[in-house]
Amino acid sequence: MAGGARDIIVAGGFRQGRGEPLSSVDPATGRVFAEVSTASVEDVDEAVTAGEAAMRDPAWRDLLPHRRAALLHRAADLIHAESESLARLQTLDNGKTITETRALVASAAGTFRYTASALETLDDTLTTARGPYLSMSVHEPVGPVAAITPWNSPIASEAQKAAPALAAGNAVLIKPAEWSPMAALSLGALLLRAGFPPGLVSVLPGPGGVVGEALVRHPGVRKVTFTGGTGTGRRIAAVAAGKLMPVSLELGGKSPTIVLPDADLDQAVRGIVFGIFSSQGQACVAGSRLIVHRSVHDEVVERITAAAEALVIGAPARESTHMGPLIAAEHRAEVESYVRLAAEEGGHISTGGTRPSGDALGEGFYYRPTVITGLGPGSRVCREEIFGPVLVTLPYDDEDELPALADATPYGLACGIWSRDYRRAWRLGRRIEAGTVWINTYKQLSAATPFGGVKESGLGREKGREGIRSYMTQKGVYWGLDETPSAWGL
Ligand code: NDP
Repeated sequence: MAGGARDIIVAGGFRQGRGEPLSSVDPATGRVFAEVSTASVEDVDEAVTAGEAAMRDPAWRDLLPHRRAALLHRAADLIHAESESLARLQTLDNGKTITETRALVASAAGTFRYTASALETLDDTLTTARGPYLSMSVHEPVGPVAAITPWNSPIASEAQKAAPALAAGNAVLIKPAEWSPMAALSLGALLLRAGFPPGLVSVLPGPGGVVGEALVRHPGVRKVTFTGGTGTGRRIAAVAAGKLMPVSLELGGKSPTIVLPDADLDQAVRGIVFGIFSSQGQACVAGSRLIVHRSVHDEVVERITAAAEALVIGAPARESTHMGPLIAAEHRAEVESYVRLAAEEGGHISTGGTRPSGDALGEGFYYRPTVITGLGPGSRVCREEIFGPVLVTLPYDDEDELPALADATPYGLACGIWSRDYRRAWRLGRRIEAGTVWINTYKQLSAATPFGGVKESGLGREKGREGIRSYMTQKGVYWGLDETPSAWGL
């Protein structure tokens, strides 16, 4: 580790990047715990060029899918073997509780394992011929892939992109968020240990405006898979349009959770509290807008308020903690400004709205779980993503109002429905504009089930077998079977 800063991974080699080093801060204490070297535009160019060469190398290009799957399985084994240290590193880097970071690491290993199995069972197909030939559809790698990720669920986000990109035969260039680069660097190291050829994997931390932009604009990058804010996603899509390059965009959300009057309220309250306050609300799918039938609204708010007040806020490495700190002081300030805005807009804060007290929490970026009532659906706090532990509630009277009320934001990422009547929940779930609908559950995710958003929540789907296909391009192949293959009969 020359220069004292942690090395980055350029074209399969560990070395100091040529960008300005960044400091990784523990959000629980506000203290710097590591310096990380960052990539420069020249490093990006080197990494992309090496990625193109590695993809052309017959040692990789001709490796059959079941052999690529073996490498993915090995990566899963290594992630599993290192799971506790990976989870602890991540908790230090972004303040998520240790129970949550363990789940993220397990999800990353599971993604590699699922992808390996799916890869082995993906078929090329014979297509229906309309002449004297045999015709086929085969799949090939799309080209070097830039995987740009946010800070809220590292390792799981990176695995969700790297596993299918590699399975499809591509080089992958990972650009983690500046606030949480550590897990991506560890994942990159494990991928190299698993035996992926050097050159195929780079991990390039650094500012989005420099490293991210350089990757997106680089002529050698042939696909961008991005998770992050809607504004950044829109900017990436505009550059991609100029290059005619496919993009997959997993963006923000303001997801509604609907409580019908026949819901099991005990179950619903537990699910709602987990859906908004786990990860300190810093989740794209956080159920941040609660839409409750007026007949049970006050009771539900009262119960959620009590449950929120019982949550343990504290050091994220402690097993009993429910909520750790937010990622950064600036981010907490933004969350606080939304709570002030809610009060200005006429909202009532039924719990939270302040930092927790206590010496042990004073240095970290903690914020109490907050519940706001009394705002209309058109208020900014009900329409904009806050990305923190803030729940707004809206009563409704008539089931027919629900689809319009649920869809009354620019987003369409997820939706929760709590009801004992499965027919009703099904009908409602099919009408709401969202990429994921949870009925009597929330925040459950499977590597096999498509994930993504509609409207300003994104473009494209990750996960599942189609998720691997999205990193491939199709080719039609024709085998002439006639002695006179040309229409001239020559
Ligand atoms: P950002 O969009 O700010 O950043 C995401 C990534 O993009 C970071 O690595 C960032 O780098 C990079 N980036 C920034 N500017 C550019 C650019 N011009 N070109 C290329 N890359 C760039 O989002 P946040 O990190 O703040 O993450 C929070 C957002 O992510 C929320 O809106 C949340 O909803 C969304 N999200 C969506 C998910 C989904 O699956 N739909 C899942 C998780 C989060 P840097 O860190 O240096 O700024």
